[in-house]
Amino acid sequence: MEKENEPKLKSIFLPFLSTSHIIPLVDMARLFALHNVDVTIISTKHNSTIFQNSINLDSSRGRSIRTHIIEFPASKVGLPIGIEAFNVNTPKEMIPKVYMGLYILQPEIESLFETLQPDFIVTDMFFPWSADAAKKLGIPRIMFHGASYLARSAAHSVEQFAPHLNVESDTEKFVIPDLPDKLEMTRLQLPDWLRSPNQYTELMEVIKESERKSFGSVFNSFYELESDYYDHYKKVMGTKSWGLGPVSLWVNQDDSDKAARGYAKKEQGEKEEEGWLKWLNSKPESSVLYVSFGSMNKFPYSQLVEIAHALEDSGHNFIWVVRKNEQNGESDVFLEEFEKRMKESGKGFLIWGWAPQLLILENPAIGGLVSHCGWNTVVESVNVGLPTVTWPLFAEHFFNEKLVVDVLKIGVPVGAKEWRNWNEFGSEVVKREDIGNAIRLMMDGGEEEVAMRKRVKELSVEAKKAVQVGGSSYNNMVELILELKAIKLAKV
Ligand code: UDP
Repeated sequence: MEKENEPKLKSIFLPFLSTSHIIPLVDMARLFALHNVDVTIISTKHNSTIFQNSINLDSSRGRSIRTHIIEFPASKVGLPIGIEAFNVNTPKEMIPKVYMGLYILQPEIESLFETLQPDFIVTDMFFPWSADAAKKLGIPRIMFHGASYLARSAAHSVEQFAPHLNVESDTEKFVIPDLPDKLEMTRLQLPDWLRSPNQYTELMEVIKESERKSFGSVFNSFYELESDYYDHYKKVMGTKSWGLGPVSLWVNQDDSDKAARGYAKKEQGEKEEEGWLKWLNSKPESSVLYVSFGSMNKFPYSQLVEIAHALEDSGHNFIWVVRKNEQNGESDVFLEEFEKRMKESGKGFLIWGWAPQLLILENPAIGGLVSHCGWNTVVESVNVGLPTVTWPLFAEHFFNEKLVVDVLKIGVPVGAKEWRNWNEFGSEVVKREDIGNAIRLMMDGGEEEVAMRKRVKELSVEAKKAVQVGGSSYNNMVELILELKAIKLAKV
């Protein structure tokens, strides 16, 4: 740990413009500040509202951390004020314009690097140019991955060996080669950019190159969670990497931190929040399902209906974080009636838009998740020792499902068959029977369920150990800071 009176290392953190990349990288930045590093986070005004409350809290605790706001060039790219991120409400046709805005911002960010004179920068994987920018300034660039070591290893294997080209159909299983475990997938479950080359494939290649040019990478993961993949990834990439997670567990230890996280994304007032807490506190221990599909997803009406019926038919209590689908007024009426019915029966509580996930998950009434396997949520479920019904949708979710179900054996798959883009509905509708079966296997106290709960509880203990003095992530943080200090001193 850094000593208070030593000269501080100066750092810049640059998160990507999407909620689930911002949240863990800001948590990580706050961890560096906790370890006596001076931290400046560069962000735009609208995006900073997601995390500014946490920064204010940290700075009131005397930590050396602040946000440097840059103005998103909305008018230059023809976007309305406030659209400056890739999130669930970004209209599809505006996405290229957000990219354009980021492109325009690049020289301004580079010159900020020069002016602020950091000793190192930590930038999201989607800023590959920052590796060269750091090189010019003679400082280390550390790349932040929003994914798991398993997911990055699996993607690398598919890129290298193209096992999906050796099967006859989109639904035939193939083994992902050269991984520590025998993991099977189908072509339909692969991200489109891995199935056949597109623009994103090229971008991922550029990102990989930039990783090799960087000082190393950091992940929101911890050694004990995916040790074989941690070692494998470093070996195949030939790069340095540090697991510094679970970042949310480490840095959000007070309720004030947990509540402040992602604050601006809430679509309900304080009263509603108290509502969920009161409701949850009235439920028996481990009796409630937490059903959420992250920050980016919207389902079509047909899928919302299946989920609603599956939850109602399951007989279990549930909290469902749900988003209305503006394209279809039918779903509004259906969901409102469903909510009314659930209020009357007391079986279910709907949270519209954004939920205080960390606070909900640690409530003793929660007994398991139904989740899309977004990496942050996987880690957060492990933190609290809860099993998951896995329902991968897009990004690297299908790889994460392999970790949860096949490697760690702490989840039950819903049987999702098809990868889709985050801002598309895709053609698959998972049926209520399949959702119900998976919920039953997770919640109904069978032998396998008991074993699964035991395993995830053990992992939760490991997660807590990882971030304590002497734990794997703690040691990684100390080592990384020491290396960065040595580089600074060598320059002097
Ligand atoms: N999250 C939250 N409330 C919500 C939805 C998401 O607090 O209603 C947080 C969640 O705790 C996690 C992040 O947002 O830290 C979502 O990241 P994840 O990787 O799980 O999914 P994504 O949003 O990328 O699909």
